[in-house]
Amino acid sequence: IETKLPKVGTTIFTVMSQLAIEHKAVNLGQGFPDFDGPQALRDALAAAMNAGRNQYAPMTGLPALREQIARKTERMYGRKVNVDTEITITSGATEALFAVIAAVVRAGDEVIVLDPCYDSYEPAIELNGGRAVHVALDPHDFSPDWQRIADAVTPKTRMIVVNTPHNPCGSVFSAADLDALAELTRKHDLLVLSDEVYEHIVFDDAAHQSVLRHKELAERSFVVSSFGKTYHCTGWKVGYCIAPRALSAEFRKVHQYLTFCTFTPAQVAFAEILEKDPQHYLDLPAFYQAKRDHFCHLLDGSRFKLLPVGGAYFQVADYSALSDVDDLAFCEWLAREGGVAAIPLSAFYESPPAGQRLIRFCFAKNNETLQHAASRLKVL
Ligand code: PMP
Ligand code: GLN
Repeated sequence: IETKLPKVGTTIFTVMSQLAIEHKAVNLGQGFPDFDGPQALRDALAAAMNAGRNQYAPMTGLPALREQIARKTERMYGRKVNVDTEITITSGATEALFAVIAAVVRAGDEVIVLDPCYDSYEPAIELNGGRAVHVALDPHDFSPDWQRIADAVTPKTRMIVVNTPHNPCGSVFSAADLDALAELTRKHDLLVLSDEVYEHIVFDDAAHQSVLRHKELAERSFVVSSFGKTYHCTGWKVGYCIAPRALSAEFRKVHQYLTFCTFTPAQVAFAEILEKDPQHYLDLPAFYQAKRDHFCHLLDGSRFKLLPVGGAYFQVADYSALSDVDDLAFCEWLAREGGVAAIPLSAFYESPPAGQRLIRFCFAKNNETLQHAASRLKVL
């Protein structure tokens, strides 16, 4: 059949996880923790299933969970969101991202994405008849270059996708970035899709710069998050989308036919843990910062050059002192011969900068896993 996605193959995450299994490599590729979330959360899930909470949830999500998300949002970002009209629970952030794009992108619309970027945005834009316009982040610190972004806006531009903390780079927005985004979107009347799945993983005492902190941006944004990241359970696939009433209404038109609703027992469990243990997400920055620092320390004296990481759970490394092959070839070699799986950064670009020699390691791993990986990386 004629393909609707000619540029798309199997995702790099699947490819690299398979290589890791095949070669018994330590898997620092695909982003997922190798440890479980809180015991109380897993107990709450089992209890919900055993208590018969096994039928469809409301289309918009369990009220108790939406209530907890509203509390968290006010506590973290000082923004009151309406529990009934502005929060929708989704089957992972992936579903939310797709539903936002399907809800707003019309044939011929352009959507600005900032390269490198997460791999699901562009296929979703294309499937909905739009075109992704790629603008490079600063190649040194992966911050947005607002002038270049402004230069990419055309009368067809409908939306801009931003992601902070950033996958794959670990860079984070500043408050000034929010102001620049507000100015740009006001001037050109653009919508914002803000991918904030790593909202609770920000380091060095910085605050997460959610668009929800910014009144004007909050009025034109869809904010997407994921409990998979915050509670170390990527396999549960529960996320949510916060948007003003009119935008949420359009979002829900898609969501109700995409999945209709999300796994009920997990919603019960997240509502409970958010109520009983709000400290969990407040402790997350220190928890992952310790892992970042441990991993960097373990790689002291290796030939990898590590780039600064302000958030999320990825470490970008320059391997140009080890090899001059391209990053995909290097990752294949690293999994096969070096015994460690990583992700080539070129997978996140429309066209990666020539000669760039960067790969991404996921440090959401037990310390023993990080030690095992580092012992292999250090001898290369
Ligand atoms: N956005 C980003 C930036 C991500 O890193 C991920 C997870 N890899 C997602 C969205 C998707 O999240 P979920 O697993 O909840 O669908
Ligand atoms: N978000 C994860 C990553 O960046 C992978 C998700 C996936 O495998 N689709 O590694």
